[in-house]
Amino acid sequence: MKMTATAKRMAMEIEAAEVELDNHRAVLSDLMTELTEARRAEWSRAGGCEVCRGWGETLSWWTLDGSGWDERKPCTNPACTAKTVGTDPTSTEPSSRQNNRSLAQECPSRMAKTAEEQRNYAALAGMVEAARAKIEAIRAMYEVRVGSEVVVCRGKKIAIGTRGCVFWIGSDRWGKGRIGMTGADGQTHWTAASNVEVAFEDTSPLTQSQSILCRLTSQSAA
Ligand SMILES: [Zn+2]
Repeated sequence: MKMTATAKRMAMEIEAAEVELDNHRAVLSDLMTELTEARRAEWSRAGGCEVCRGWGETLSWWTLDGSGWDERKPCTNPACTAKTVGTDPTSTEPSSRQNNRSLAQECPSRMAKTAEEQRNYAALAGMVEAARAKIEAIRAMYEVRVGSEVVVCRGKKIAIGTRGCVFWIGSDRWGKGRIGMTGADGQTHWTAASNVEVAFEDTSPLTQSQSILCRLTSQSAA
């Protein structure tokens, strides 16, 4: 299927937003590595027990059938006292479960301790979140919904460039997406959902009355 100008524009916008997200994630990841190492070093300096990694007990028997059968025994390190027990931020709980997560993975925000670290963490996590939201917003902007102003971009039965307003979205008996739209000429058209795309001011402006109709349809659908 040939890509339309609108589809190309969406792909480019999403690609740019994804690059941004990756960049922010990489910086956040570096900060997390740094913070986790600092917390691990502090834990180690405070006498953290390397035998049990701070859990006070180790796994003594397990089966692949699940962690419910795990048996644990108290830590054998005589220096392992209540004072040294405290989770190593990089260690997972002694368990046969392979997907156990460490404190650093489970609660990354807890790796930031000083006010400066907390500020940096919050700023970077916020940037990652914003970049993610931006990608969602781009997708939503190009998504055909009831009330969307659309333009016919492929197919044979309706003239390419026909503009209209979507009043129904569903699927045919084979499960393929279909839409019903009221054309700018007032006619009702039914076509494959893949034959239309969201109309933008600069690519295919609607007439004013058509635009009002779309807004009304959109409101009644909400
Ligand atoms: Zn121990």
